[in-house]
Amino acid sequence: MTTKVTSKIRILSDTVSNQIAAGEVVERPSSIVKELVENAIDAGARKITVEVVGGGTRLIEVTDDGEGMSRADAELCFQRHATSKLSASDELFAVRTLGFRGEALASIASVARVRMETQTAEDDVGTTVEVAGGDPVFVRDGAFPAGTRVRVEDVFYNVPARRKFLKSESYELSQITNRCTHYALAFPAIHFVLKSGKFEVLSAPPAADRSERILKLFGRDLRDELVEYEREFPAARMKVHVFTSRPQVQKYNRNSMYFFVNGRAIRDRIILHAYSDAYRSILPSKSFPVTMLFVELPHRDVDVNVHPAKTEVRFRKGSTVHDAVRDVITEALRSDKTIIPMLSDESKSSPYRAPEFQGRMPDSWAGGPIAREPVSDSPAPLDLSEATTFDLNYEEARGVVGAGPGPTDLPDFDLMRSELRPLGQVQDSFIVAVDGNGLVLIDQHVAHERVLFEQYVRERDSGTIEVQRLLTPIILELSPEQEVRFEEIAPELAASGLEAEPFGPRTVAVKTAPGILKAAAIEKLVLELIDGVDRERQGLNLETFRKKTAATVACHAAIKINNALDSVKMRWLVTELMKTDCPTVCPHGRPIIVRYDLKEIKKAFKRA
Ligand code: ADP
Ligand code: MG
Repeated sequence: MTTKVTSKIRILSDTVSNQIAAGEVVERPSSIVKELVENAIDAGARKITVEVVGGGTRLIEVTDDGEGMSRADAELCFQRHATSKLSASDELFAVRTLGFRGEALASIASVARVRMETQTAEDDVGTTVEVAGGDPVFVRDGAFPAGTRVRVEDVFYNVPARRKFLKSESYELSQITNRCTHYALAFPAIHFVLKSGKFEVLSAPPAADRSERILKLFGRDLRDELVEYEREFPAARMKVHVFTSRPQVQKYNRNSMYFFVNGRAIRDRIILHAYSDAYRSILPSKSFPVTMLFVELPHRDVDVNVHPAKTEVRFRKGSTVHDAVRDVITEALRSDKTIIPMLSDESKSSPYRAPEFQGRMPDSWAGGPIAREPVSDSPAPLDLSEATTFDLNYEEARGVVGAGPGPTDLPDFDLMRSELRPLGQVQDSFIVAVDGNGLVLIDQHVAHERVLFEQYVRERDSGTIEVQRLLTPIILELSPEQEVRFEEIAPELAASGLEAEPFGPRTVAVKTAPGILKAAAIEKLVLELIDGVDRERQGLNLETFRKKTAATVACHAAIKINNALDSVKMRWLVTELMKTDCPTVCPHGRPIIVRYDLKEIKKAFKRA
């Protein structure tokens, strides 16, 4: 038997370690997964398997087939500032590996029970090390395949204060899934597997390139929505490669935006800003694309030593990176033949509304001083198909509310409110009405949304939601993280009229939906609810989730703007709106009614 006594790990000098961004790396189980996976990648692994139990709180085990460690290194690696990746401080400005701080294993071992098995390809004998309270308590020989396995149990067992901050197991699992998804995207050649108990959350065999990896992780439907584009910037020695969604895709949070700089997953405000610039005339504000961005630039031009968890970076030339990213996104969208007409120059100056967006107006329209927004400048309606389907939906909606009021039998309601008389529409979108005190403009979409919201909440509370069984179930492809989130909200969805169940790997079948929804709206609605599960929440807050579900259902069922309404429909809508508890604000918080008092009108005519 031969054992090489070579060792790669050194303890960083105080000078270097003092220059390293200080702070805690182990915040939650997903931070442990992150550090262990990064070590495996730095060790040149071709396959990395992550197994967790209890959202990682009870067990995290990461197995790699990388270079492994000699016995000397295995004993050293748990010490603080023990690293093989950095020696002199000037290297700090040009870090090439994911790790460099020499702190991760030490930090993990100080808050959990850790056992490591490792062996290099050259050695006949491997090493097992067990650590408690930060120090190796047990070291002995073993025989293992080349590579390393680190097993971490009972996270924060000795730090009750930190344990309290752990969230639900499914939340912790979704964080872990998110991390693994990031690494899988950044390293398509590495085989990644994530298991939660027996359940295989993620399985990504080696892929030829990023495109193939994205396809494997997110499915064909999503991949088909993305435009791929790549460009080099020779002067900055920079390369930007992007997959980014066409305008019809819109997410309600940033969960589907993946940014990588030199293979490192990061969050970055400069890059976010570049995206909002590029999508400004394409997506309504507060909507986000699905996107994977890979920036490669000289290591010296990016400082990764900013944040203890290394998720933030500082660019030496921030504005160069900003403009490059913005231009690449813009060019990507322009290069895509299916969307050229939408990016004409004139659409840049006014908010563009794709057909699918008609339910959600760009914010610049909503609630603003309508009188100052020249309506004639607004883009013409692009999709009139809504107008033809509307009648049916509208009749359904009013049928559910109760006896549909005919022109002569308007229901009674309180006197002041009843004075509101609709006169017509502006741009087939805003109802113009008058009462004794002035002029009122009503946004027809949000008004209907408010009506349906309250109706839905009432029905939900009394268990009388009208549910339709879909003739053919709607099949949704989910990303690994979405699947984890789906598991958590499935019972709530069912109680809201949306019964869905697993249907093969990473797909679910939606079988029922609230009666007020059109089939075409259901897929988007369910995905929106899955994506909407708040990243930062403490477990699932049922009250909030129910409200959100009701608001989202109402939004998808409500009539859109750019729909002509006859006087009967306008009166019905105004009447129903005035019956609601809160006729002035929509469930998402946008104004429904803009009022011009007689006083203001008189003043404008200098009659005051
Ligand atoms: P860092 O990654 O910042 O160097 P860590 O505490 O994460 O610090 O790891 C310390 C050292 O242990 C690493 O520099 C590396 O030499 C060694 N090491 C850790 N994990 C592995 C692994 N999976 N395979 C091979 N070597 C590893
Ligand atoms: Mg490390």
